[in-house]
Amino acid sequence: MIRSKLPHVGTNIFTTMSQLAAQTGALNLSQGFPDFTAPQPLLEAVGRHVGAGHNQYAPMIGLAALREQVASKVARLYGAKVDPELEVTITPGATEAIFCAIQAVIQPGDEAIIFDPCYDAYDPAVTLAGGRCVHVQLSDGDFAIDWQAFSDALTPRTRLVVLNSPHNPSGALITRADLDRLAQLVAERDLYLISDEVYEHLVYDGAQHASVLAHEQLYARTFVVSSFGKTYHVTGWKVGYVVAPPALSRELRKVHQYVNFCAVTPLQHALAEFMAAHPEHIDELPAFYQNKRDVFCSLLQGSRLRFIPTPSTYFQLVDYSAIRPDLDDQEMAVWLTREHAVASIPVSVFYQQPIAGQRLLRLCFAKREETLQHAAEKLCAI
Ligand code: PMP
Ligand code: GLN
Repeated sequence: MIRSKLPHVGTNIFTTMSQLAAQTGALNLSQGFPDFTAPQPLLEAVGRHVGAGHNQYAPMIGLAALREQVASKVARLYGAKVDPELEVTITPGATEAIFCAIQAVIQPGDEAIIFDPCYDAYDPAVTLAGGRCVHVQLSDGDFAIDWQAFSDALTPRTRLVVLNSPHNPSGALITRADLDRLAQLVAERDLYLISDEVYEHLVYDGAQHASVLAHEQLYARTFVVSSFGKTYHVTGWKVGYVVAPPALSRELRKVHQYVNFCAVTPLQHALAEFMAAHPEHIDELPAFYQNKRDVFCSLLQGSRLRFIPTPSTYFQLVDYSAIRPDLDDQEMAVWLTREHAVASIPVSVFYQQPIAGQRLLRLCFAKREETLQHAAEKLCAI
């Protein structure tokens, strides 16, 4: 028998629920991905670059043109001057970026602080590096960071803190004041940060995304991670990037060159070209997704689900306790898929210690209006 290095890990919830949705023919609002197409010029650019012979390995750190686009975007949005040669690395998805950053900094016996509910990619990567995750709960209700609880969790072994804002699954946003507080608390410590900002452009109601890139003091010890998949509606391309100071980027690249070496070449060409030609795409995203959120939320008013419209991401949390308080959220997600043909994600899987009595599901609204209407009809009929 092989001795598992991840004995407590099974097939993840995104795979499980997407498979169940496919098997049952349910509308899939579980795993986060759009059901609409990416911008046509971006798709055409891929074909053109494949045809033009851009089909061999890309540079290990990413295509220069794409790294330059990332650097100019972060300068424009966050006022951060980063060197595309030394501080920007293109990776096969944000997932690989996160994995490599964790392998680069975690030594056996180190601790990493992560906040629950928590995206599922962090903990296993820390375990594989020989470290241990310390889970700190976000406040019940508003999913804000409890800085006292964070401070209590810090030890001399703390080597890494993983931030995720805009936050999956709750949509909560870290503020500039949070970043200042964090900077204060970690000032004298030998630790690093990963700031998972893959939903950086999906922020609503005029709110601003507080990027670590705009916080000089924190950036000096941070790997800032993002994903072209979310921003350009192409989650299946698995292209992401990391922005980190030169010394951190150097260590990350040592890992990245052996985990994957490089991201897919023609996709990098297409993204670089599209970013240069359509800088407005990212400026239009908040209104584009806010409209989807508003359409979905107003349709759901007719249901017995309770919710507060999410301030960010493409996920809406809903409380189903008025419908089936007798079911825990994993049972509810299966019941809803099988009996009412709508697949969702149960929120308890994002916790090390689920909150007793919490009755929350996550619904993805990155969908065509027609899909949202069908889903809402089904949900309102329960
Ligand atoms: N971080 C978070 C918070 C996510 O929701 C996702 C989702 N896809 C990722 C990282 C991974 O991004 P990618 O698909 O680019 O690997
Ligand atoms: N990030 C996506 C979500 O939260 C899923 C990514 C994956 O399937 N691993 O739904």
